[in-house]
Amino acid sequence: MQLDLRYIGDSILREKTKEVDVITDEIRILVRDMIETMHAKNGIGLAAPQIGSLHRIFVCLVVEETEGQRFKTETQRVYINPKIESVSEEMVGMNEGCLSIPGLYVDHIMRPKTITVSSIDLEGNKIVETITGWHARVVLHENDHLNGVLFIDRLQPKQKKMVEEEVKKIKKKIEKKQSRIRH
Ligand code: ZN
Repeated sequence: MQLDLRYIGDSILREKTKEVDVITDEIRILVRDMIETMHAKNGIGLAAPQIGSLHRIFVCLVVEETEGQRFKTETQRVYINPKIESVSEEMVGMNEGCLSIPGLYVDHIMRPKTITVSSIDLEGNKIVETITGWHARVVLHENDHLNGVLFIDRLQPKQKKMVEEEVKKIKKKIEKKQSRIRH
């Protein structure tokens, strides 16, 4: 089942999520629906708060790079209770967008290039991996969602100023759309 997305301005996007104790059928269904929603919205990743759940879960597609070009692969991953164990000192600037902030793309957002992340998968296996490039970027972005952080919080002051107006416009557009749905 496709789930409704939550957008910027929705307070759930600012909440901290809770760890999953047991992988129940409810969790399996949630993950399945999150994957379906991610595909339907053409996203690379989706975190639980973005569909109104406060479980510590995100899903993503593995992004590969060839000669500077990035493309989504068919490999989908589920991260339950992810923890960023370590990050490289080396930082890289890449462009980002977010399904919860439709239409906003910002270039050159600085994040660590390489990270080590631990998580459990749907079978309950613990996975520790060191990843780099776009995959690391997606994991950091989605992991932020689990802590109530949005990518616009990661902008340099100068970048923040540049997108301020655009973010306001997006928020207004969403409010308008939602009031139409309510009435
Ligand atoms: Zn996002």
